[in-house]
Formats: sequence, C-alpha cells, structure tokens
Amino acid sequence: MHIKKGDKVLVISGADRGKNGKVLKVFHAKNRAIVEGLNLIKRHTRPSSRNQQGGIIEKEAPIHITNLRVICPGCGKAGGIRRIRDDEGRLMRNCKLCNETISTG
Ligand SMILES: [Zn+2]
Repeated sequence: MHIKKGDKVLVISGADRGKNGKVLKVFHAKNRAIVEGLNLIKRHTRPSSRNQQGGIIEKEAPIHITNLRVICPGCGKAGGIRRIRDDEGRLMRNCKLCNETISTG
C-alpha cells in the first residue's frame, strides 16, 4: 500500500485523469481510495430531516489505487515515490526525484 490518508495524489487513468486531490479515506481490502472532489457520482436523495429538500447530491466514489500516483510534497511531481527501508529496517517512502522522505504512517 503506497497511498495513505492525507496524501496528495494524481489520477492517471479514467474520467478524472490529470486531476489531483487529497486522499480522504483508503479502503485497504479493496485497494481503493476516496479522493476529495474526484470521481464524483450523483446521488438522488429523498427529503429527510437532514436535507429538507432532497434532490441530487454529489459524492466521491472510490478510485482504484493503481489509477493514483502520490504527489511528492517536496517537488510536487507524481511518479517518483518509492519505498525504501531506513537504517533500522522501517519502511519509508522516498522521492527519487528530489530525495524527500514522506511518512508512511
Ligand atoms: Zn520529490
């Protein structure tokens, strides 16, 4: 799993290709992630106590993580993130483009 909540990611495939956004949630079992403002689906809602009028709301649908690339916070480029182990054997994420280390969480 290369992607975690809070990462900024670039979409490389599908209708939202080329767009980027922040990961709100990761579904590890399904290898999918919710990205803020992307892959929106429209849902029709009935009037309820929370939404008195009902109507259509837009909601993010999960995107398969193979369609996402983490954007490096150091250089702002996607596709350079790799996993490495530090001196103590902990997995880290590192950008091969600018050598920035990103927390794995
Ligand atoms: Zn970088």
